[in-house]
Amino acid sequence: MVVERQQNTIARPAKVSGFGYWSGLDVSVEFRPAPAGHGIVFVRRDLPGMPTIPAKIEYRVDGPRRTTLTCRSASVEMVEHLLAALAGMQIDNCQVWVDRAEMPGFDGSARPFVDALNTAGVQTLPARRQSLVVSGTVKVGDENSWISISPTTRGKCEIHYELDYPNDPAIGHQTHSTVLGEHDFANGVAPARTFITQQEAEALRQQGLGRRVSYSDLLVFDQQGAIQNKLHFENECARHKLLDVIGDVSLVGCDLVGRIEAYRSGHRLNAELVRQLLNLYPQSVRTSKAA
Ligand SMILES: [Zn+2]
Repeated sequence: MVVERQQNTIARPAKVSGFGYWSGLDVSVEFRPAPAGHGIVFVRRDLPGMPTIPAKIEYRVDGPRRTTLTCRSASVEMVEHLLAALAGMQIDNCQVWVDRAEMPGFDGSARPFVDALNTAGVQTLPARRQSLVVSGTVKVGDENSWISISPTTRGKCEIHYELDYPNDPAIGHQTHSTVLGEHDFANGVAPARTFITQQEAEALRQQGLGRRVSYSDLLVFDQQGAIQNKLHFENECARHKLLDVIGDVSLVGCDLVGRIEAYRSGHRLNAELVRQLLNLYPQSVRTSKAA
């Protein structure tokens, strides 16, 4: 059976600001309440006509190391942690007013977004949240990295992530699991920060990216551990990859009922799973009632 729930929005607006990791530009984000059925929609208030960009898979474009949404000529970038914060808190309807393309990076986690949304408070709406209940296994990827979703009797979305960096012993092999709407997202998953290896950090810096970002702004690993930083969790990297999965699969636009298992998957594969699911389960077979 499916654990039903009502749709949510936020009770009042909330603001948060910072700078983009890639652009280095200051950006301010305002979350505003939205009615049932509205979904998550970005508004580029800095562009003529204030174009809107819905957080749906059809607007996702593949880019290196980040999730970008483009609708007509307007884009928003690095949206994955913001989307994970909304999805993890089960806020289904929200307008996200922004004044730049790139979202703030903060410490590489979703925590500052969650804190802002907590200040706003959650408001329940008089409409059921639609669910996509998987009835068979769907898997994308190959033996090196994959993500799958299978039926569950739990009635919710379970996620298990397995990460493996055999050449970087300080990261190594880690796992983490969660159940959306049941486990503590705000304290268990949202604070997990993004991470890269020192080699990757140097390569990015040589391309002129991330000049405003320092070692203390995100986790940079050398062979010994995180440089100039302390881990929030011993398996923080696996928790962060799980956070990315939550943000990426939220582009499906409804609740998923199933067990997601991911092995070394990243944004591209996570999005591919969503596309396959929407092909296999068109709108007509999704439900807003108990199945
Ligand atoms: Zn991430």
